[in-house]
Amino acid sequence: MRAVDIIARKRDGLRLSAEEIDSFVQGFTQGTVPDYQVAAWLMAIVLRGMDRQETIDLTLAIVHSGRQLDLSDIAPFVADKHSTGGVGDKTTLVVAPLVAAAGVKVGKMSGRGLGFTGGTLDKLESIPGFRTDLSVAEFRAQLRSVGVVVTGQSADLAPADGKLYALRDVTATVNSRPLMASSVMSKKIATGTNGIVLDVKVGRGAFMKTEQEALDLAALMVDIGRGMGRSVRAVISDMNQPLGRAVGNAVELREALDTLHGRGPADLRQHCLTVAGQMLLVAGEARDDAEACARLEPLLDGGGAWAKFCEWIAAQGGDVSSVEEPQLLPAARIVRELPAPRNGTVAGVDAQEVGLTSMLLGGGRAKKGDAVDHAVGVVLQAKIGERVEKGQSLLTLHANDEATLAEAQERLLAAYTWSDDPVSPPPLTHQIVT
Ligand code: URA
Repeated sequence: MRAVDIIARKRDGLRLSAEEIDSFVQGFTQGTVPDYQVAAWLMAIVLRGMDRQETIDLTLAIVHSGRQLDLSDIAPFVADKHSTGGVGDKTTLVVAPLVAAAGVKVGKMSGRGLGFTGGTLDKLESIPGFRTDLSVAEFRAQLRSVGVVVTGQSADLAPADGKLYALRDVTATVNSRPLMASSVMSKKIATGTNGIVLDVKVGRGAFMKTEQEALDLAALMVDIGRGMGRSVRAVISDMNQPLGRAVGNAVELREALDTLHGRGPADLRQHCLTVAGQMLLVAGEARDDAEACARLEPLLDGGGAWAKFCEWIAAQGGDVSSVEEPQLLPAARIVRELPAPRNGTVAGVDAQEVGLTSMLLGGGRAKKGDAVDHAVGVVLQAKIGERVEKGQSLLTLHANDEATLAEAQERLLAAYTWSDDPVSPPPLTHQIVT
């Protein structure tokens, strides 16, 4: 089976067999199919699509590129969550230790920044020393002893996803239902977790721009997960404006730390409670949202989630003093306030533009293998529905050079729309698919 023939079949809109998909994916993993052929294949999939069976076969091929863990000797139930990608989405940093503090073990494989969206691994690597390349033995041992572990794709776990993910990030091939579903679900299946809450983002700052697209993606992932014996639920959540106020890496981590101390922006706290609550429901640890919330809120406000977070960070080699004293985290050379250009109420903040601006400042990658600048980013002082007076701070920019800062300022101002009348913020949760 020649790689070029498999590319040509997908280019021509033909169905690929399980054998063709598997041979392509294993060839890429082993280095016999080069990046340029894979990039062409990915683009053919973006343009031609894949049906349900092809998507399942792609998911399985990615899982089979590495090992599939069985965690049943560690705990009867291990929970997991995964976001389809958003701007300012630092939910995992709060939810993983929060759910673990509630007594449900959380084992998770996360990703790096993808397109204009940020990545949990990049945010966690803002912490000096934090390791995201755990071996299988380390993953299992930490799940057992600490109850929460987050790693990246590795030579053992979904290696094909690690390689495909890095290529998709820089070849404009992220936005495809079969590629997203197989990427997300292969990671979940490989780690062997029992219950999965999918946070499917919808809106300007998400890959799914309409609620129907988000529902279709959610249904496909739930179908794949259930077919493989997992309990799966999906939260369809809003991503028209960034979640919380911070967008970047260390700036987002600082906001997550605030939230773990019972402070932090109200929308981020509420969203974390929703996702964590769904994880308790999927684990059978709460009967309804109200009961889940009553378990979780005291852990955020009383320090239980924070203590579990510190334990987690230390276990993965992170310098706990830098999260206890966040001024020790990477900081940008230039911190500049951008004043509001007018009096008015914020009617819109284009999340995609904010994500692209954070990348422009250095927070994301333009080419495979680029290093990210953990210090740069943007903090929104005003979001939809909030009133500001001309000259009041609208945004705080964290940058490391003046030229990109000037371009970022222009783009960010253009990302805002205004109203003279009151505006209601969008709902945080659109639907829950159970
Ligand atoms: N998260 C993933 O892991 N993969 C995608 O394709 C999108 C979001």
